[in-house]
Amino acid sequence: MTTATSTPARPYPWQQGLWDSLRRLFGEGRLPHALLLAAADGMGKQQLARAFSAWVLCREPGPQGACGHCKSCQLLAAGSHPDLLWVSPESEGEKVSKVIKVEQARAVVDFASQSAQLQGWRVVVLSPAHALNTASANALLKTLEEPGRDTLILLLTDQPMGLLATIRSRCQLLPLSLPDLEVAMDWLRPQVPDAREAQTLLQLARGAPVAALALRDSAWFQARRELLADLAAVSRGEQTPLAAATRWSKMDAIEQVTAWQSLLDDAVQLRMAPELTSRHGDLQAELGSLLGVLSAETLLDSLWQAVESRRLLDTNVQPQAILESLWLHWGRETRKRGQQHAG
Ligand SMILES: [Zn+2]
Repeated sequence: MTTATSTPARPYPWQQGLWDSLRRLFGEGRLPHALLLAAADGMGKQQLARAFSAWVLCREPGPQGACGHCKSCQLLAAGSHPDLLWVSPESEGEKVSKVIKVEQARAVVDFASQSAQLQGWRVVVLSPAHALNTASANALLKTLEEPGRDTLILLLTDQPMGLLATIRSRCQLLPLSLPDLEVAMDWLRPQVPDAREAQTLLQLARGAPVAALALRDSAWFQARRELLADLAAVSRGEQTPLAAATRWSKMDAIEQVTAWQSLLDDAVQLRMAPELTSRHGDLQAELGSLLGVLSAETLLDSLWQAVESRRLLDTNVQPQAILESLWLHWGRETRKRGQQHAG
């Protein structure tokens, strides 16, 4: 049998203040036993929860996290620590459930009522906590109020108002606000060397750095420039809408419509409020030339069509037909306006 080793999770730079408070309060025995960590998506809540639970369970914790080599750290690395219970919606066959079920909540109650197997602390993480439905939330109320001795319960959410008030009132709220642009850029830049791209990613991720990095690898982000070029080509009549639709048929439909929405949303904003900066900062010139010929009505109407297509994709089984009509609509609307301007 090999010994599992891996570098334990560390807090992100923008979590340092919260990390230090957590450690201090824990050290002073004043940390509330139920903590609600609320932060936007892409702020690294899960990593903070991993880092802090590892630190609490570790035998020789350091200021920046768990040691990585004690028995507890080895069990964590192997995914078999008996005193950590990480609860998330389970998958059922191909589908991932959206709720933490009452059976899972009951397992938390059981876990919290036993004593630690390694004679240390026990940690429960509920991620995301807004996945608790009414039955599972109710099953947890008493445990949140009085968990067993040396038990810490971490609830993670990006929708604190999606939790029952009875849950929220039993937890200490730990809000994690967006980092300053400078802090976020310092973290992002070594991974995204192009400064303009890094800035665009952060803008599109609304300032959440982990989301910004994930976005870089998404199909829709990578396709933006090319899609914008084809939108412009169709609007100028240099390419037929159906040729464009065919050209784009290989891309995942939802990813493609996400790119449409994001680009058109930006174009509408630039048209209505030119003083604001473009979220797609690296495409400003391309967006500008499209705006040179299209009216606010055309852009708004097309944005609406893209939003509607996105909705249809959730219910309809023929994504290609939805995308074709989106391209046809774009061709019709932009050409019509173009002719009006010309005539
Ligand atoms: Zn350790």
